[in-house]
Amino acid sequence: MVLVHAHPDDESLMTGGTIAHYLARGVDVRVVTFTLGEEGEVIGERWAGLVADGGADQLGGFRIGELTAALAALTPPGREPLAPVFLGGAGRWRDSGMAGSAAAEHPRALVRGSLDEEVAALRAELTAADPQVVVTYDAAGTYGHPDHRRVHEVCAAAVAAHVADTGRPVKLYESVSERSAVEQGLAAADGRVPAGWRMPAPGELPGYADDEITAQVDVSAVFDRKVAALAAHATQVTVAPSGTEYALSNNILQPIGAIEHFRRVDPGVDRRAPRETDLFGGVA
Ligand SMILES: [Zn+2]
Repeated sequence: MVLVHAHPDDESLMTGGTIAHYLARGVDVRVVTFTLGEEGEVIGERWAGLVADGGADQLGGFRIGELTAALAALTPPGREPLAPVFLGGAGRWRDSGMAGSAAAEHPRALVRGSLDEEVAALRAELTAADPQVVVTYDAAGTYGHPDHRRVHEVCAAAVAAHVADTGRPVKLYESVSERSAVEQGLAAADGRVPAGWRMPAPGELPGYADDEITAQVDVSAVFDRKVAALAAHATQVTVAPSGTEYALSNNILQPIGAIEHFRRVDPGVDRRAPRETDLFGGVA
């Protein structure tokens, strides 16, 4: 199984439970991260001087450490910790920043790089892993981050080329939120909003209607590992004292899901079939 992500923290925020779930089942899970997350906003004062804009521009290197700790937290105790893999090697492509950011003009910015070169780099990872399942982002890039949209584009092209090369099918999924599950999580959290945080406005968090979701993975058995992984990304994520919500630097409360949701998008999908509960369902 290969999961492709844009920045350190996305793997835990979007798919941390799924990574822990399949690691616990003994699956060969690989997480490929496209950039070091150099343009992230830092929570708190302690590491604030590391930022790219007006700081030491050391955040990317620091976040390798956070990602390493997060993947270790997702690994079952006693097993060799899952190690990070960066597309093209650590530092090859750089975080392009939020839409409209000057960081997109950086010579190594992911969105400025050669699409062909990025696809070739991901194809090399797919060739090495020969995955049955690949997880990526939706075409909207989750919440519209240019790097997330780019990851979607690169992954779609790399998987199509890999399947054409090998003749073996790949189950391709987009990691998404289910709107009703987000609303349930928010309803449960209402009344225990940590000081300085706020509830999201209606519709502020991205989400899909129930009938657009084709698969879900129950990660409640590894929920503690997912929370520990989120906490490992301390420059980016704060876990609420409840242990069931988090916030990014914008201080908007978001639920930590015990069920993770996906849309299957490869040609093998049957949209009339019941929702899958195992991304490896039907895999020989
Ligand atoms: Zn991201």
